[in-house]
Amino acid sequence: MFGLSGKVALVTGASRGIGRATAEALAAQGAHVVINYVRGEEEARRVVQAIEERGGKAEALGFDVADMQATDEAIAALAKRLGRVDILVANAGIAVDNLVLRVKEEEIDRVFAVNVKGAIGCARAVIKPMMRARAGRIVFLSSIVGEMGNAGQAVYAASKAALLGLSKTLAREYASRSITVNVVAPGFIDTDMTSSLGAEVKEGMLKAIPLGRTGKPEEVAAAVVFLCSDAASYITGETIRVNGGMYM
Ligand code: NAP
Repeated sequence: MFGLSGKVALVTGASRGIGRATAEALAAQGAHVVINYVRGEEEARRVVQAIEERGGKAEALGFDVADMQATDEAIAALAKRLGRVDILVANAGIAVDNLVLRVKEEEIDRVFAVNVKGAIGCARAVIKPMMRARAGRIVFLSSIVGEMGNAGQAVYAASKAALLGLSKTLAREYASRSITVNVVAPGFIDTDMTSSLGAEVKEGMLKAIPLGRTGKPEEVAAAVVFLCSDAASYITGETIRVNGGMYM
């Protein structure tokens, strides 16, 4: 039901965290997974090795999603070499936490360049081979804060909210080609992104999570795999929240 044998899946920001767990979960279902990274070449190679050791297929591909030309060139070359790109998980993202009165213009530009322009650029590049195949799956990683807001994360929240409008629009534009476009919105997940939060902030968050604990990257990956599988063929323009009940 969730089998992905013969499919090519590109996961951006797959050297660590949720992207890594997603890449491993897609590979476990039989997909050939392309592990994108920007700085973490060593980490990306370790992910490839871990997948191969379990009998899966993977390769590393470095490019900065904020650089549209580099993204276009890398994805066009990939599609040419492998003959297809069936799945895009647009996961690469950065967070800058600051009150809006203190945030610097360069920080706003960088967050939007990676989180929004990066997602648009990757989607635009994979839609070409997906249209030719008349099939495809795109999943954007948004965030709980894109829907509910969070004091101190105005810029990050705005960038993650943008992905909701993007996914619904692309879902409408490419439905006729059987390309589905959905969002997974994680809550508080244990990764490098959340490891720097202070103990007090973490404690406050835990109180707001009905399941009483933080999430694991694998628990987000499971929702992504579902949306990428045949089991989700009639779901498009939707958001699956993976947040332990923190926002319903
Ligand atoms: P993470 O541990 O900080 O990992 C971020 C990943 O993105 C890394 O693989 C990093 O690659 C990559 N990346 C960053 N900038 C990039 C760029 N310009 N081009 C290509 N790759 C880039 O993050 P995470 O916690 O797993 O989060 C993954 C996604 O889920 C993000 O979009 C985040 O906003 C979202 N999310 C996370 C949480 C959470 O609680 N963790 C909650 C809600 C939403 P390098 O290793 O090369 O730097």
